Amino acid sequence: MIHCDGLVKIYKAADLEVFALQGLDLQVESGELMAIIGNSGSGKSTLLNMLGGLDRPTAGSLLIDGKDMLKMSERDLVRYKRESVGFVWQNNARNLIPYLTALENVELPILLSGRRKRMRALELLDAVGLLHRAQNKLHQLSGGEQQRVAIAIALANHPRLLLADEPTGSVDSRMADQILDLFRELNRTLGITIVIVTHDPQLARKVDRVVSIRDGKISSEMLRKKSYAEELMELELGSEQAAV
Ligand code: ADP
Ligand code: MG
Repeated sequence: MIHCDGLVKIYKAADLEVFALQGLDLQVESGELMAIIGNSGSGKSTLLNMLGGLDRPTAGSLLIDGKDMLKMSERDLVRYKRESVGFVWQNNARNLIPYLTALENVELPILLSGRRKRMRALELLDAVGLLHRAQNKLHQLSGGEQQRVAIAIALANHPRLLLADEPTGSVDSRMADQILDLFRELNRTLGITIVIVTHDPQLARKVDRVVSIRDGKISSEMLRKKSYAEELMELELGSEQAAV
């Protein structure tokens, strides 16, 4: 789905140049659940922004479904970002409106109208396990629940790729686990490709593949022998057999 080859990103601030990505190679397969870990300042957010079309690389190649992002027109880039990608941030204040209900917040970005919009919003709230909180104002929800609303919003227009930048950065570890479980479930049930950026190695252990980044380059890669989806499937088959 995504193929980065020698990706370079240089930020120019006044007369200073910051080499945020320095020849990064990475492939993301369609349908995978992966994490990118690395210290603060290593280039994680920069990479995620490139993958989501929020910013363009300075050099190298970034192919998305075979299309070169460096050569894509502004219009195609906007379309890619709007139609194919969902974003979740650590702090979702810019996407959420505190005095609206959870349902109203989720309805906002949905490109449908009337009853279909309402139905889609309820379906999304159900997908993130928040149907029972639909009529609560956003400020009445816990941090973890607000994060679920943000995930529902990110899924609103059926993206193929979900990018999450430190999505558990401001919740406690139990909540972080639950959010990760939700990502796993969405990956499995919707088949959506998910890339999570985190500096929490504990969290990263629970995805199918972990790539670590250092000074704007991939420094190591760890692959689980079995994906979580396969493991869960075996567990479920096991318990069914036990029931028989
Ligand atoms: P991470 O998300 O891993 O903490 P970032 O991708 O945010 O790292 O940053 C990588 C490097 O690029 C850092 O040195 C950071 O200061 C710099 N950087 C990030 N964004 C900008 C920007 N818009 N302008 C200038 N420098 C930036
Ligand atoms: Mg960051």
